[in-house]
Amino acid sequence: MTKAREMAWREQLLASTQQLAALGLNKGTSGNLSVRIDSGFLVTPSGMPVDAMSMVHMQFDGSCEAGKRPSSEWRFHRDILQAKPDVNAVVHTHSTFATTLACLRKRIPAFHYMIAIAGGDSIECADYALFGSQALSDQALLALGKRKACLLANHGMIAVGRDLPHAVSVALEVENLAEQYARALQIGEPTLLSASEMQAVYAQFKGYANWD
Ligand code: 13P
Ligand code: ZN
Repeated sequence: MTKAREMAWREQLLASTQQLAALGLNKGTSGNLSVRIDSGFLVTPSGMPVDAMSMVHMQFDGSCEAGKRPSSEWRFHRDILQAKPDVNAVVHTHSTFATTLACLRKRIPAFHYMIAIAGGDSIECADYALFGSQALSDQALLALGKRKACLLANHGMIAVGRDLPHAVSVALEVENLAEQYARALQIGEPTLLSASEMQAVYAQFKGYANWD
């Protein structure tokens, strides 16, 4: 890959990281992002505020460019990109409502038709594992299954997409759903959509707003 092309990818990753911060989905040094490039992937650096970030080029064997420290969560970024050829970008947030549900170890069921954007009838919550561990990556992959998002117990959420804008959109919508579900639970017990009602949603969704 040419230097110019790699620079363009680095800029796109920085722009998406800034966008997540502007949307309020990540604050301070919480969260991280990655994008697949021709040779491996780029991931945000560890423990850096957005404005000071220089992205880290990694290989799928876990090696990275000299003198840089990749996100402590590089394992789940690597493992998701490796396991899912149709996924080219991974977003991790500690956004407030997704994290609130994750701290209660609650999954998000089909309480609203927009759950379909995450590729299934629910968004599952991965079992707890230490941040930055291989165990967290393993649990995240299990909770994701074929879906585009999962919660991480006592931690936050992961959203994936075909490219960075798609992954950011999924993360934003999952946070919306988490807020709506948490607020509905404060008032009562939401009525869930049935499997056949969700099938009708998937049919209606074909080609809608490019969520596929
Ligand atoms: P990093 O700064 O190492 O990416 O860690 C932030 C985070 O969200 C850990 O789960
Ligand atoms: Zn985190």
